[in-house]
Amino acid sequence: MPNRKRKPGKILEKVPTYAVPSRLFDSFGYLTLHGADLSVYLYCCLLVHKQPDEDGQFVFEMNSAEADTGYSERQIWRALASLQGNPQRTPQKGIPALEESSLAKNKPPLIVKISGGKFLPDTYSICTEYGSPIKIYRGDKKETLRGMLFSTGLGYFDVPCYLIDRLSELKGAPLAVVLTGIKQAIDLQQAKFVAILKEWKSMAGITKDADLHSAWECKTVHDLMRVSHKKGQRRAGVELFDPVRGTSLTQNMPEAMDRAAEKAAISAYEADRAREYTQQELEQWFLSEFPEAEKRDDEFYVDCPECHGMRQGKRTPTLRVRFDKGAVGVMACHAFIKKLKRSGEDVFCSFDTKGKVPYHLMATRDRIAPKQALQRMRNYILVLRGERAEEIESEVAFSTSAPASEIPI
Ligand SMILES: [Zn+2]
Repeated sequence: MPNRKRKPGKILEKVPTYAVPSRLFDSFGYLTLHGADLSVYLYCCLLVHKQPDEDGQFVFEMNSAEADTGYSERQIWRALASLQGNPQRTPQKGIPALEESSLAKNKPPLIVKISGGKFLPDTYSICTEYGSPIKIYRGDKKETLRGMLFSTGLGYFDVPCYLIDRLSELKGAPLAVVLTGIKQAIDLQQAKFVAILKEWKSMAGITKDADLHSAWECKTVHDLMRVSHKKGQRRAGVELFDPVRGTSLTQNMPEAMDRAAEKAAISAYEADRAREYTQQELEQWFLSEFPEAEKRDDEFYVDCPECHGMRQGKRTPTLRVRFDKGAVGVMACHAFIKKLKRSGEDVFCSFDTKGKVPYHLMATRDRIAPKQALQRMRNYILVLRGERAEEIESEVAFSTSAPASEIPI
């Protein structure tokens, strides 16, 4: 559960923030929502904060939503449908069955409709990935969205109020760029850092350098985040500022930041030591199962069983696997699949959303249960360490009667 743990929030300590569900990002820190969907979802979170008596529910008014997000009524309706995990249907026409099923499968709901109709205001709630409202019963005591996200284990991400209160000024790329900029700062625990532009664009879900540049120049973004970049360079310097006081957040309790960074470094080291398998062991196992995997930097690329990433008519390995994160590594595919005919919106492969880890890939390929795949991985690593392999249940017919040392791995 990579998103569950709360990152120490020293960087934004002095800046007022709203909590939003950490499902806004996937395990690689890539935004899971874009365009109108992203703005409308943050607007929904804002409504929850503004209607604190409703336990995660909020009344949605179209007129205010249009003014506050800067999107049209039609775009907002479509975003609301999409956030409920519904295919992006327009009222006039249905969408072809094939397109509908592939979209529906890839979209877990983020909000759920509670009531609404001719005589009732439209009421929704922030929901779990299974579509149940996040409301928790605690007698008369009302819980904040932050509290609910914490107690339900969904996790939260802090977004400066300054941004969520100005969604219409940030419409489109600026919002995606500033959010992923903050995400990088929080993950690094540094209010001043060097960003790799290619990675930043992927995290924000944008393709053009020009979009990145114009986002940096957007006034609301600039109030909070200043970027220095020399033309032609692949990296940029980023520094976060208090948007109201105009002071750098690096001056914000440097000692506290040092302490937090030190603590984070120690716990990362301890977490790695406490890991059952080391990165090297996991990598070696993965290469034994997927010798065709392409290794670049610390990442492996293999063919995605979901979308079989096609580029210019050629199959490209788009499924990215890393072993420095999570207990047994993480994987995700962000291949661009197509543009929707009607809205022109980009559809990406979302093989990562079901909480799958690298050994699930072997389970899918070999049509075995994930549990068996895990045991096979474990045994590979035990043998690697010169230890005894363990018995694998019901994988081969004679396994239950043969001594463990004779079991083929
Ligand atoms: Zn894919």
